[in-house]
Amino acid sequence: MLIFDIHLDLAMNALSYNRDLRWSLERIRRWENAQYRGREDRVDRGNNTVCFPEMRRGGVGLCVATQIGRYAPYFHRLPGWNSPEQAWAQTQGQLAWYRIMEEAGELVSIRNRQQLDKHLEQWQNAPSWDDSAYVVESRTRPPEMPIGFVLSLEGADSIVTLQHLERSYNDGLRVLGPAHYGPGVYAHGTDADGPLPPKGKELLQEMQQLGIILDVTHLCDNCFWDALDCYDGPLWASHQNCRVLALWNRQFADDQIQAVIERGGILGMAFDAIMMVPNWVHKQSRPQDFQLRIERICDHIDHICQMAGNAKHVCIGTDLDGGYGTEQTPIDLDTIADLQSLPALLRARGYTSQDIEGIIWRNGVEFLRRAWKE
Ligand SMILES: [Zn+2]
Repeated sequence: MLIFDIHLDLAMNALSYNRDLRWSLERIRRWENAQYRGREDRVDRGNNTVCFPEMRRGGVGLCVATQIGRYAPYFHRLPGWNSPEQAWAQTQGQLAWYRIMEEAGELVSIRNRQQLDKHLEQWQNAPSWDDSAYVVESRTRPPEMPIGFVLSLEGADSIVTLQHLERSYNDGLRVLGPAHYGPGVYAHGTDADGPLPPKGKELLQEMQQLGIILDVTHLCDNCFWDALDCYDGPLWASHQNCRVLALWNRQFADDQIQAVIERGGILGMAFDAIMMVPNWVHKQSRPQDFQLRIERICDHIDHICQMAGNAKHVCIGTDLDGGYGTEQTPIDLDTIADLQSLPALLRARGYTSQDIEGIIWRNGVEFLRRAWKE
């Protein structure tokens, strides 16, 4: 079954982790384990779960892929650039990587309904993917099937002026989440607090004008409600689980989930352990401590479907390799291709084939079709 993953930080992995996503998963791990042995710069070195061959093997033929660049003023507690201009330049490097992956035939940018429908038709009519010819040490021929991606920006700090937002739209940006972790220029994010700043309101107005989808994930509670008040366009929560099942402000409370449902939005289920179970201690807990398996995500899915009274507001937004790897994913999730076990798990919970298809890809696609109706 085709999978539509509405949140992957592909460019960040390519440029901040130096991962060539055309390599096999095994090759990336082997290289990182050799390169960083004894001097790991990040806890997730050698633990990656995402690369193009695994996406194809798992049928992840469509995704929303991010640009990301934080501005962190003097004495900011989170890492980031010292000016929005530097953050902008970082996101432009990421854009250049998406472009060259398109030129290589690995990716294809999806910016409108027509391109979306054409891409889906191609993937659905494709013979099942034979990766035996693909996963080789050094490949000279391009892949048969480019992976479709919708361009998104996670955290808006890099938008120097509203003209830069328009420029980004012209470069294919179709989704924007104004916040990330901590305080931000346009909105405050996870673990921060405060009302939506005036600049954030202007940004949202401009987004609505341009037809950019609002990603409400990462907005702090205050900014979440403010954003809903001053933005009327289509919105979703790209990688967003339930607070009632994993207590932390990163997850949405029930009234927030309800509000997203009422606005016709969808919530992407994230496979980061810290968002799946309660009391996960960052950099200390292990998936085994919780007997954490992919199955656990079904609790989050059930919770949202019960609130909605249907299965139309849930989709997949894994956030895999979003700053963590297998040290922080379910035991039975070694690669993104393991998402293919999800349909059977949902079937065992009593979901119909139609519901499952909706959750795995169709709800996300229908959302985009509605958002891109003209
Ligand atoms: Zn995130």
